[in-house]
Amino acid sequence: MLAFDIITIFPRIFDSYLNESILKRALRNKLIKISVINLRDFSRLKHRKVDDRPYGGGPGMVLMAEPIYRAVGESLKKARRAKIPRNKTRIILFSTRGKKLDGKKAKQLSRYKKIILICGRYEGIDERVAKYVADEEISIGDYVLSGGELPAMALVESVSRFIPGVLGKQESLEEIKGSYPVYTRPEQVGLDGKIRRVPKVLVAGDHKKIEEWREKQGGKKR
Ligand code: SAH
Repeated sequence: MLAFDIITIFPRIFDSYLNESILKRALRNKLIKISVINLRDFSRLKHRKVDDRPYGGGPGMVLMAEPIYRAVGESLKKARRAKIPRNKTRIILFSTRGKKLDGKKAKQLSRYKKIILICGRYEGIDERVAKYVADEEISIGDYVLSGGELPAMALVESVSRFIPGVLGKQESLEEIKGSYPVYTRPEQVGLDGKIRRVPKVLVAGDHKKIEEWREKQGGKKR
């Protein structure tokens, strides 16, 4: 069982996506657990404030370090109570400056027992979180999103797929280079006035040839 704790100021964002399809089944089968933690619960300020203006000026607001530190502390405490050792726990901060999430990273992360995800918002997060609280910073790509929530969902899903039992068929677990184009019925489709056919090799039934074709298309032998 891998438990994800997601720290966010928008907890409801996660409700619908995580409760569908593969992740829903993984949750039901207790292969993963997801706790969404409202960062505002860890504010000690009026109006549950968790952000403030940046030192040195500039636009926007910055998430403060202390509420995040306390939220992470609470997660670590729960992990200790569940007898999860610190080296089986990973604290991840989403950041545009982080290491890029890829299949290899997702596979590595799937070996942890607890993953704490810190979602940024606004102009970013007080740098002391990256320096003194998080184990690592992760980016999901070279573009800027409005928050760490989409990155968190991408990470939860890509990591969960590596946990045995999460996918119905483990063969669906494609390393990126193992993926090839796929077609389904019907064999002929009319698109914009033209008949578009399925490549002949796929309907001819010669499995060796099919495998060769898939390899050539960018897939690898399995
Ligand atoms: N000025 C900041 C923008 C922060 S966006 C910058 O250029 O870095 C707000 C938050 O969204 C970030 O703190 C981060 O947690 C999250 N975020 C945005 N884009 C992301 C990406 N590509 N990967 C991971 N997290 C991202």
